[in-house]
Amino acid sequence: MPGAVITRFAPSPTGALHLGHAFSAIQAHDRARKEGGTFLLRIEDIDGTRSRPEHVQGIFDDLAILGLAWDGPVLFQSARLAAYEQALSRLRERDLLYPCFCTRADIAASGAAPHGAAGAIYPGTCRSLDPAIRQTRLATEPHAWRIDMARAVAAIGGAEELVWHDEIAGVVSADPLAHGDVVLARKDAPASYHLAVTVDDAAQGVTHVVRGVDLFEATHVHRVLQALLDLPVPLYRHHRLLTDVAGNRLAKRTGAPTLASLYAAGQDGPALADMLRRGQAPPGFALPRD
Ligand code: GLU
Repeated sequence: MPGAVITRFAPSPTGALHLGHAFSAIQAHDRARKEGGTFLLRIEDIDGTRSRPEHVQGIFDDLAILGLAWDGPVLFQSARLAAYEQALSRLRERDLLYPCFCTRADIAASGAAPHGAAGAIYPGTCRSLDPAIRQTRLATEPHAWRIDMARAVAAIGGAEELVWHDEIAGVVSADPLAHGDVVLARKDAPASYHLAVTVDDAAQGVTHVVRGVDLFEATHVHRVLQALLDLPVPLYRHHRLLTDVAGNRLAKRTGAPTLASLYAAGQDGPALADMLRRGQAPPGFALPRD
């Protein structure tokens, strides 16, 4: 009889996994196994232009070589579009969403401050568009859907009591307004990361969200979505990140070595997993304290 703890590893198949992913997957896996719980694998492949099937297979292979087995079927976000649409409809019915026609260049040109869970805080350009102009543009122009965060916070009666519990940071007061009107449905994808991850963690019954501290800020946004959509609030653990020796976080785009390349160079998977479990980083990498 599996225990009540349900964790997940939720990579995006937009590149090969690196050591940072291995560390994160081990944290989520071990958190569940320690308590006889369930460890799920979710493939976050809603970004149709950047997700690649070969990376999906690579994720399966890399986890298997590390000695990590997941429970039950793999959930693919690309198969969950109806659930995201349903969540968007609920928010739209409450008049909490508006279409946004801005390009990245428009937002950059507005001098928006580069902070928040989703990059620059959106300056709100499309929030107050004339309704007739909005209707015309909706029919003819590509658009994203943004949440009107001020209205959303008002709709839940304010953010004063909106908190989440983090195993490392303790009780955290959510401050969704600091992140502005984030995108919930992208121009090029039917949901954004924020919407999909929140809806899916609830749908999969995830009790403990174990992920890197780089996603800590995103939780401010996820928490308000949970309140708006009547979803349960998991316990969070935003763990430390593996870095290079200079302290830079590993990233696909900055050329972090892939797990596949380490295995190909003779690295043993279970030995690597055990090293990371002991809090040790392989030569050339560092693992700062939580
Ligand atoms: N798909 C996200 C990523 O690869 C992680 C999602 C999450 O753990 O919340 O960065």
